[in-house]
Amino acid sequence: MPWFGDEPVSTATIGKELPITAHVSTEVETIQLRGGELASSLRNQIESGRQQLLRDGGHPPVLVTLAVDPNPPAEAYRGSIARTMKRVHIEHRPIDLPSDCSEDELSDALHRLSADPAVTGVLVLMPLPARLDKSIVSEQLDPLKDVDGVTMINAGRLHLGLPCLAPSTPSGGIALLDFYEIPIAGAQAVVIGRSNVVGRPLAALLQRRNATVTVCHSGTRDLAHYTRSADIVALAIGQPDFLTPRLIRPGATVLDFGINVIGDRITGDADFEALRGVAGAITPVPGGTGPITALMLARNTIAAGIANLHKDLDSIPPFEHWQTVEKDG
Ligand code: NDP
Repeated sequence: MPWFGDEPVSTATIGKELPITAHVSTEVETIQLRGGELASSLRNQIESGRQQLLRDGGHPPVLVTLAVDPNPPAEAYRGSIARTMKRVHIEHRPIDLPSDCSEDELSDALHRLSADPAVTGVLVLMPLPARLDKSIVSEQLDPLKDVDGVTMINAGRLHLGLPCLAPSTPSGGIALLDFYEIPIAGAQAVVIGRSNVVGRPLAALLQRRNATVTVCHSGTRDLAHYTRSADIVALAIGQPDFLTPRLIRPGATVLDFGINVIGDRITGDADFEALRGVAGAITPVPGGTGPITALMLARNTIAAGIANLHKDLDSIPPFEHWQTVEKDG
C-alpha cells in the first residue's frame, strides 16, 4: 500500500482529491535545488571546452541573439545571456531586425548568419511577432549553429538518442539533478507540459538517461494517478501554484520550470511553500532552473563550435567528458 505523508492511502483513492491531512508530512527534509550553486562548476566546464575548441583550431566562440521587436521578458533574457557570455569569454552579438521585417528578411538573416564562419551559434529570441511564421527558424537555421536545439535536425537527433544541441532550459534541469546527485537512471519521471522548448525535450533527455518517463498535458485524465507514483515530477505549464502536495508522493523531486509574474512577484508552477516538508527536493522560483539556462546556452555554443569545426553534429563529445563537474567548496 503506498504512503502519502503520514496516512496510508489505498490505491482506490489515487486520482481522487484527498483530505489535506492525509498527505501533509512534516517529516521530509526538503532540499532546495539552486541553480546558482552549480554555476561556477559549469563555468569551469565551459572554459575547459572553450580552451579545447581553440586548441583544436576552432574559431573563438561568438553567439548571436537575433530578435524582432523583442518584448520586455525577451530583453531581460538577452541581458542575462550577455552577462553570462561575458563571464565565460564568449562574444555576444545582439542583432535586431526591423520591427516590420518580412518573413523573407528573417529567412535571409538566418541564411547569412548560418553561412558566416565567424558566427558560432544563433539564438532567435521568442516570441516572434505573430505575423512571422516561427517554423522559418526551425527550418532555415543551420543545425550546427542551433544553440537552443530548435531545428528539426536537432530535435530529431535528440529523440533518436544521437549527439545533438539540446534545448538549454531542460538541459539545465538535468544538470541540476546531476549536481545534487538525484538518480535519473531507473527513476519514474513525470513531465507535465509538452512544449517543444521544455516538456518534450526534457522527456527525451530523461529517457536518454534511462528514466521511465510519462508525459502529461492538458488532455491528461487523472493527473494525480501519474504524478503520485513518480520519483521526479517536472513541470512547465505556466500556471502558478499548480503542483500541490496532494499531487506528489512525499520525498519526490520537483523540477519547476514555470515563470509566472504576479504583480511584482515571480513564481513557478509549483506551490513551493506548501511543498516544503513534502518534496524531497525542489527548485525554487526564482533561483532554481532559471540561473542555469544561459550557462547551458554557453555550453551549447562551445558544442556548436566543435560541430562547426568538424562540420558534423556527431563530433560533439558527451558533456561529462569535458571535465568532471565538482561541487564548490
Ligand atoms: P506552453 O504554453 O508552450 O506549453 C504549456 C504546456 O502545459 C502544454 O503542453 C499544455 O498542454 C500544458 N498544460 C497547460 N495546462 C495544463 C494542465 N492544467 N495540466 C496539464 N498540462 C497543462 O508553455 P512553455 O513550455 O513555453 O512554458 C511553460 C512555462 O515554463 C511558462 O511558465 C514559461 O514561462 C516557463 N518557461 C521557462 C523557461 C526557463 O528558462 N525556465 C523557458 C521557457 C518557458 P497542451 O499541450 O495539451 O496544451
